[in-house]
Amino acid sequence: MPTLFRKSREMRNYSRLQKCEKRLTIGLVPTMGYLHDGHRRLIRESKMQNDLTVVSIYVNPLQFAEGEDYDRYPRDLQRDMSICEEEGVDVVFAPTDEDMYPEKPLVSIEINGLTDVLEGKFRPGHFSGVCTVVLKLFNIIQPDRAYFGEKDYQQLKVVERLVKDLSLNVDIVPVKTVRDLDGLALSSRNSYLSSEERESALSLYRSFLLAERLIKEGKKDASFIKQAIKEFLLSHDGVRKIDYVEITDENLRPLETVEESSRILLAVWVGNTRLIDNWRIGCEQV
Ligand code: AMP
Repeated sequence: MPTLFRKSREMRNYSRLQKCEKRLTIGLVPTMGYLHDGHRRLIRESKMQNDLTVVSIYVNPLQFAEGEDYDRYPRDLQRDMSICEEEGVDVVFAPTDEDMYPEKPLVSIEINGLTDVLEGKFRPGHFSGVCTVVLKLFNIIQPDRAYFGEKDYQQLKVVERLVKDLSLNVDIVPVKTVRDLDGLALSSRNSYLSSEERESALSLYRSFLLAERLIKEGKKDASFIKQAIKEFLLSHDGVRKIDYVEITDENLRPLETVEESSRILLAVWVGNTRLIDNWRIGCEQV
């Protein structure tokens, strides 16, 4: 079994020892737990590139707004520990709320520009909460590299800017989205879906294939593609609402004309479950 630390003091002391005395490199995979094959991919990447791999498991209350799924978010530390053991993880850091936030933090991180669109627009305060916890984890664990999935593409971009703007001493390594065989992007939140809802959720992936086809046929107008995606999604009974469908460049700037390697990003409600996914045109495996 990996070593389990529940206290940041223990985690920090461990990292200090490994890095300063033993000169070992540390890869960090930050997660909210309920691990799946997407997380496994991040862990494997870290294991290839570092002497030690730390997986953090923490459902960060700061990044959930009132009325979101903080309370019902799936949690199973025993199951996660077994998966980490299978993957040869060295340390699991699963702090308690008291340890992470002994008091309500007075300091917050504000991100300008990058977060007033997409997820940031629909989840105000979300990325401020993400950046706070990521910065805390970096300070406690002192990783050489940290692994983030493209599944949460805006989060990846925000964290890259956090590191750049605050000159943090860590390399951010992006990892491609892992999908089920039928195309559904893996997510801990998929556990909320009934089997009918899961079927409707496949429309997200299929809408990317539709977009690929239209673009290959020469349709380059982003509004046209977005409209086609929306109509396709809403033609599925289980799709209750679309928060957004956007086509951007790699820095999340909206595009009017679709280009090679533009990205489609969307957030969709299937029943009571909010799913996000994204797709790099022309570059993903179909
Ligand atoms: P989460 O536990 O959902 O907060 O995710 C932890 C990390 O795993 C984040 O960097 C996610 O982007 C990444 N991740 C989640 N799902 C996937 C997936 N299907 N493929 C690749 N990375 C993922």
